[in-house]
Amino acid sequence: MNNALNLQNMNTNKSFLSKFEKPLVIGGPCSAESEKQMLDIAGQLDQNYVQVFRAGIWKPRTKPNSFEGVGAIGLKWLKKVKDEFGFITATEVANANHVKLALENDVDWLWIGARSTVNPFTIQEIAEALRDTDKVVLVKNPVNPDLDLWIGAVERLQAQNIKNLGAIHRGFSTYKKTKYRNNPQWQIALDFMDKMPGIPMICDPSHICGNREGIFDVAQQAFNFEYDGLMIESHNNPDEAWSDAKQQITPERLHEILKKLELRKSDD
Ligand code: PEP
Ligand code: MN
Repeated sequence: MNNALNLQNMNTNKSFLSKFEKPLVIGGPCSAESEKQMLDIAGQLDQNYVQVFRAGIWKPRTKPNSFEGVGAIGLKWLKKVKDEFGFITATEVANANHVKLALENDVDWLWIGARSTVNPFTIQEIAEALRDTDKVVLVKNPVNPDLDLWIGAVERLQAQNIKNLGAIHRGFSTYKKTKYRNNPQWQIALDFMDKMPGIPMICDPSHICGNREGIFDVAQQAFNFEYDGLMIESHNNPDEAWSDAKQQITPERLHEILKKLELRKSDD
């Protein structure tokens, strides 16, 4: 086992994360495309490094006429990934019907996307559909740099007795593009961590960067700030991916990045 991936170096003693012996890594494609694609990617991901398999089934796209996800059939493929490979599975939910279908199909973890976190009615609907669940629910930051909207979404979930909550930092939209697709504005995530110390913070370098080249540096920066884990989109054929092709990396490249990351020792 590579020394760089060592529990002692991680601040993981937070709620549902404490049972993981390594920094939490969520891998898998932006979108579920076919059963074969899902099983091929799952077969290529090394479970020494990746504990959770992600795939978007319902895809909120900025423009109409883009691929908007395979829909509920993808939940069957996620279940196969769990049954055949033993991964924890995760998908995005954006309304109460998604929640119902995901729960019926035994998805393990759910995340709320950046375009949903901006809408308190959407969050309220999802929170009520998930009332009392023991499932892990991860809340991405809203697309706009509004700390209270992010915290407010978490509070709405807490108010419905949802206990296993985490946050995902995926950066913030800007009108003029910088070198990032979504500017990290690290201070917002650091302020979130200060104000919500019991909520693990996971970095999503894929959506921050919007390209493959920047992923290592953003992931390293997240570890320097003592984040609890990473979500990195990974695909068996990134150039041909049906969504977010530019930022997806192969499982092989993901493992290289994870081996190279240095995790800073926590001071406490
Ligand atoms: C995703 O994870 O593929 C996604 C749509 O992310 P975000 O909500 O961060 O844009
Ligand atoms: Mn994506």
